Amino acid sequence: QAKSERKNKCVRYKEFMRKLRDKHMSLKKDLERAIRENEFLLYYQPIACTRTQRVVGAEALLRWQHPEKGLVSPDDFVPVAEETGLINEIGTWVSRNVAYMQSGLKLLNVSVPLSMNVSPKQLSDPTFVARMQSLPKETGCNANDISLEITESVLLGDIPHAYESLTKLKAAGYRIVIDDFGTGYSNLAYLHNYPIDGIKIDRMFMNDIATGGAIVKLILSLASALDASVVAEGVETVEQRAWLSENGCNRFQGFLYSKPVPEQQFIDMLQAQVRVAAM
Ligand code: C2E
Ligand code: MG
Ligand code: MG
Ligand code: MG
Repeated sequence: QAKSERKNKCVRYKEFMRKLRDKHMSLKKDLERAIRENEFLLYYQPIACTRTQRVVGAEALLRWQHPEKGLVSPDDFVPVAEETGLINEIGTWVSRNVAYMQSGLKLLNVSVPLSMNVSPKQLSDPTFVARMQSLPKETGCNANDISLEITESVLLGDIPHAYESLTKLKAAGYRIVIDDFGTGYSNLAYLHNYPIDGIKIDRMFMNDIATGGAIVKLILSLASALDASVVAEGVETVEQRAWLSENGCNRFQGFLYSKPVPEQQFIDMLQAQVRVAAM
């Protein structure tokens, strides 16, 4: 009895693993086609000032316009893209598009700093840094107006060449920002050694505000000690924004202000803002 049950479990486990592998394989093929056929696009989520509520920047967020599945979110394919190494090619596409967007905004006289997500894998890719270095010449963008968002895991020291890459990217003018701050295993000693310009407080800490915001206050003072700028992520309520403003956090991003929007819609927002200011 017990033996046949064990055997059954084993069969079910093998079946499960096979399905998982198949799914992974077909997603990989799908992604390869997506790269060939140019199925990716970028949405932009505004970053706004907690006091004036003006747009002061935006984060580029990757989307996949899948022929059958529709718009696919990055959480559903970035992990596989990372495992398969396809993230390097996809990331190259992202950075060129962000660079062209930044230089386009300058031409339209509505320039704001932009940020993009960089996966740890990309920092180990020797061609990544070289490509980033050539972007300003190639596209006319200002490296100073582009932030590279990396996760805390990068600071743990086990990603090959991460430190050298970040130092070179910083020297090329890019800003280095820690994304989802507080959710990983930040080694505070490492934090001090890396060329960090800013941190983004993970949205899970927005819940903390309702009960006094002790942790957010701690992160804000840490950032100030490191001379790093701060963006609060995942701000969904007026109370959260007001609290951030009162506690000296000047920049926020979240559904309260705007969801990520298609590129043209973001440009429209910036142009509308300039028109209002001119009135
Ligand atoms: P992230 O960089 O932390 O981006 C913030 C995510 O939070 C976005 O999800 C955004 O839509 C969502 N968000 C923004 N405001 C709110 C809010 O008020 N409430 C809630 N509940 N969520 C909010 P998205 O676009 O699905 O991206 C998920 C993650 O995928 C990103 O997290 C980032 O880690 C990764 N990702 C996105 N684009 C890229 C990319 O170009 N390259 C790489 N390597 N990763 C990317
Ligand atoms: Mg991000
Ligand atoms: Mg984040
Ligand atoms: Mg995230």
